[in-house]
Amino acid sequence: MLKVLKFGGSSLADAEQFRKVAAIVKSDPANRYVVASAPGKRFAEDVKVTDLLLECYRLARKKEPIDEPFEKIETRFRQIIADLGMTLSLESEFATIRLVIKNRASRDYVASRGEYLNSMILAEYLGYSFLDAEDAIYFTDEGILDMERTDESLKVLLSEADRAVIPGFYGSMPNGTVRTFSRGGSDITGSIVARAAEADLYENWTDVSGMLMADPRIVKDPEPIPCITYRELRELSYMGASVMHEDAIFPVREAGIPINIRNTNCPEAPGTMIVSSDEMATKPPHHVTGIAGKKGFSAIYVEKSMMNGQKGFGRRVLQILEEHGINFEHLPSGIDTMSVVVNTAELESEKDAVLAALQKSVAPDKIDVFDDLAMIAVVGRGMVSAHGTAYRVFKALARVDVNVRMIDQGSSELNIIVGINAADYEAALDAIYKEFVK
Ligand code: ASP
Repeated sequence: MLKVLKFGGSSLADAEQFRKVAAIVKSDPANRYVVASAPGKRFAEDVKVTDLLLECYRLARKKEPIDEPFEKIETRFRQIIADLGMTLSLESEFATIRLVIKNRASRDYVASRGEYLNSMILAEYLGYSFLDAEDAIYFTDEGILDMERTDESLKVLLSEADRAVIPGFYGSMPNGTVRTFSRGGSDITGSIVARAAEADLYENWTDVSGMLMADPRIVKDPEPIPCITYRELRELSYMGASVMHEDAIFPVREAGIPINIRNTNCPEAPGTMIVSSDEMATKPPHHVTGIAGKKGFSAIYVEKSMMNGQKGFGRRVLQILEEHGINFEHLPSGIDTMSVVVNTAELESEKDAVLAALQKSVAPDKIDVFDDLAMIAVVGRGMVSAHGTAYRVFKALARVDVNVRMIDQGSSELNIIVGINAADYEAALDAIYKEFVK
């Protein structure tokens, strides 16, 4: 058994959190590789080290002094080291980094130093080797992860280190300069390391006890999701219910390695298992796995008699959206009508141009744009075998008097998506949750 553990910023925000992390890592000899984030927030108004570093970068670019934010960073690391009673000194690292930032270091180099320093401390504290991500994770000239080269080089490095801490969030370009993933990217590093190590499990330790069935700001005390498939996760994350960087799924998914989302502050909770296939998943406790949604959608409604007889009608409509750089989210259609659901924010500045182009290209009998839509996705691998899911969704909505503006059931039978007025969003989500859970 071999496990890769990734700890997020809040799990490594101060010495007390470091102690919890060490207890978790030491609890199982299978915990051989650990990926660390930079120190995150200790309390709500606190500032993440990564953000302090980015502030240094901005100041240095304007040729202004970086002392204030940089000293805050030094103090945070010094305090962690002192509170843990360690003898480690990072003073020469601080001096080098400060100098490099002043000499106009790249943004990615600066942003990556939080993970670098934090991982040095954690490696020393655990008695693990420190394996710099710069020597292990590679990007292509286009700045995209070079999976093949990374996997190859990591395999060699890991075989030489029995137990190691690897900083998250960054790697290097072919010319040797540091490159980071987008924010929250340590999740991706963890996934890449799990794949190269051929781990049995990738544990992603954060500050929540896994994924919840619905947004806790809307539904009171939603139940956690014990197990979810990658496909279900994609359906939910697209609607904004994410606990992890989206790109972290792909490396482990391909390798069939499950992810376990765990809570550093509550290690006894089993968290959420994310698995690659329905066969690997446990039986869901409810008919649906999760319910997620988002406001801020618009529907472009196009009507034209005999539309269904016209070849290429849909293609032309979508082509116009593509030409204006707008993604389409859903495509519910009738016999002579077609609606394209898009993000309102994306459409806004292009709206007049899109409508004019549609008039010209497909000459519709009627064309309208409806704003203030919300979409709710009811997702569950159990739907295929169970009957009556749609009936229960609509019954729940009718009970709270919510008008359904649009329906879209994916052909995967993994989800039912309903479009409603944004004003009804909270009531609708709560009603659907209660229908399936209570
Ligand atoms: N520290 C980086 C950030 O805040 C990366 C990470 O924590 O995953 O985005």
